[in-house]
This record gives sequence, C-alpha cells and structure tokens, in this order.
Amino acid sequence: MSFFASVEMAPGDPILGLTETYLADSRPGKINLGVGIYVDEQGRIPLLPTVHEVEQALVAAGRPRGYLPIDGLPAYNQLTQQLLFGAESPLLAEGRVATAQTIGGSAALRVAADLLKQVAGTGARIAISNPSWGNHHAVFRTAGFELLQYRYYDPASHGLDFAGMLEDLGKLEPGTVVLLHACCHNPTGVDLDAAQWQQVIALLQERRLLPFIDMAYQGFDQGIEPDATAVRLLAASGSEAFVVANSYSKSFSLYGERVGALSMIGADRGEATRLLSKIKQTIRANYSSPSAHGASLVAGVLGSTELRARWEQELGEMRARIHAMRAGFVDKLAALGAPDFSFINKQAGMFSYSGLSEAQVRRLRDEYAIYALDSGRICVAALNRGNLDAVAAAVAAVSG
Ligand code: PMP
Repeated sequence: MSFFASVEMAPGDPILGLTETYLADSRPGKINLGVGIYVDEQGRIPLLPTVHEVEQALVAAGRPRGYLPIDGLPAYNQLTQQLLFGAESPLLAEGRVATAQTIGGSAALRVAADLLKQVAGTGARIAISNPSWGNHHAVFRTAGFELLQYRYYDPASHGLDFAGMLEDLGKLEPGTVVLLHACCHNPTGVDLDAAQWQQVIALLQERRLLPFIDMAYQGFDQGIEPDATAVRLLAASGSEAFVVANSYSKSFSLYGERVGALSMIGADRGEATRLLSKIKQTIRANYSSPSAHGASLVAGVLGSTELRARWEQELGEMRARIHAMRAGFVDKLAALGAPDFSFINKQAGMFSYSGLSEAQVRRLRDEYAIYALDSGRICVAALNRGNLDAVAAAVAAVSG
C-alpha cells in the first residue's frame, strides 16, 4: 500500500479548466473572454516599455544573484508605501506602516492570513463579499478562518447592494476581519464610491471590525491616485489598525514575476515594528524570502521620476482601451436591439458581470465558440476591435 494511496483528487480550478477547453477547441475565430489578465488590441500580454528599459539595464549590469532580505527589497517597499498612501502620508511619517514585498498579491493575502490567525486564535473569522475572487475563500479557509459573506452584488440592478452590505457588516462580531476590494472588484466590476467608502469605514470603526483591503488593480479604473481612494480614506479616518495587500501583476503587466506587497498598519511605530517582525517570521517559515527580479523592475520604474511618469501613461493606455471596449460593446449591443447592457459602462476594471446566465454562457460556448465564466464574468480587456462585432452579435443572439 503506497504512502499516498489515500490521497484524493483535488477539484480542478474552474478558470484554468475553461482555458484548457478553449485551447482544445478547433473552431476558427474562437474567443476567450474567461481570462484574468490584461491583453492588448492584438490579444497579447504587453511588456511595458518602461519595464523593458529597466530590465535591459539590469541585464547589462550583470548583477550577482544574492538573496533579498526576508521582507524584500527596501526601495520596493518604500516606493510601494508611497504609491498606496501617498508620499506625504502622516502614517508613513509616523512609522505606522509595516510593509514587506511578497510573491504577488496572493502571498500578501496568505502571509497576512497566517499572522491574523495567530492574533485572533480559534475565533478567527473573515467576511468576504458575495461574490469574490475564488482564491480569497481558499486562502483564508486554509489558514484556519471561519468564512462569512456579506451582500455585495445586486443582480437586479447589476450594481451594488449597498443597503444589504451595510446591514450584513453591521451584524458581524467585533474582531471579525472584513475583506474589501479597493477598486475594480473581481469578478463583478462593481465598486463603492467615496461617500459609500466613508460610510463603510465609519461602520467598521464603530463595530470594531478589522478592514483588510485587497488592491490588485490600482490604476485600472481611474488612475493611481483615485483608485487608492479606499486606502486614503481609511488612512485619514483615524483607524488604528488595518491591512492592505497589493499586487503589481496587472499594473506592471508582470504576472509571472510575482510582485506584490503586504502592508499592516499599527497604532504607533512600536506596534508597526512588532508587526514587521511577525510578518518576517511568517515569511521565513513559508518561503524564506521573495524573488528579486520583478521587484527590481518595479522599484526601477517607480524610483525614477521620468520612468514613473511614463509608466503612468502606459497604465493610462491600458485603462483607456478597457473603457473604449466597454463603451464599444454597449453601443454595438444597443445597435443590435439587445436588452439594455448600459450597466457595463458603470462597472470598473478588467471584469464585467455581464448578467448572462449559465445557460446563455453555455450557448455562447457551444454555438459561437465564445468562452466566458459560468457566472457570466467576462474579461473586457479580452475584447478588441477585431472581435467586438462577433462577441456583440453572439451576446445579442443569446440574450434576445
Ligand atoms: N486579489 C484579487 C482580487 C485578484 O484578482 C488577484 C489576481 N487575480 C490577486 C489578489 C492576486 O494577485 P497576484 O496574481 O499578484 O497574486
């Protein structure tokens, strides 16, 4: 009997499974809207010119490959703090932010989950929006949290169920962690506005709930500064403690380089110092230290005034293309006499909850070789001028 005989098959990832089916589809003109990455007008993952420039300089310098510190590249962490909180943030001046480079946004979530579980003990609970990115549940469940949900998406309006959200958050036990998407909510594309953030932050303070912001798409809705609204309002709110996990996978188009960071905000410098020591202990026991290359690229771009300005333009081009595709899609559907899809223009970021049912998604796949997630989530960035007509025609046909 093998040592591993009792090991059962783990369920496959539904998104990766969809990609496999797509790749095996031999129909010409097939279109994959199920992806979770930004692709350009030609359907390619862009290599940003600023990133390429820094990379070429790094290669030319022929640097040795030592280990990074456990908490990563110091310049990267400092520049990350400035991007998240603003260079003039009192939180930074007061030394209240403990930041560590992590292996993508995913490891920021996992390291924080492990640490928060230590702090909260057996009663560790987290409330996650319904719906949310699937890995949120997996990460916090694996770290030993009890998972709770709060209402978020309203299928009737294709927008936010704000009253439901407030009601559910208002019922949580003090000490519960509340996971919030900073912007470009994955999978719905539905975000809070500044006034709604203010209300949520006040409620979290009053109920003594711990805000945990996940920011994986900074710059994909309105720009670096406006997309950080949730973080900035939280920083200005007087909240003593909160957590921010951020990812550069999308904003630098550096998916495979695994660049992210965890920032934990304490009540004062001493608390932040203790938090950083615990973050480092957690990282050490998991993967010892992060990898150097991607962080060097990000730090190289953010650390140069000239490159940073150009990067913001590159980011702006990605953003503008997404907005143009949203508008183009809505216009074409309207011209075809489809039901009203104008809500897609109000959603933010790469994703849209299209409102298509599972049966309609299946028809798109079977009859038109167009792939979307069963939930109806489509990646707006996968649309381009070459496939927009075909997608709009098919969506109009299945939703008529
Ligand atoms: N949070 C959300 C909401 C995401 O959508 C993603 C990426 N899909 C992540 C975190 C993780 O990002 P990374 O790929 O950098 O680990």
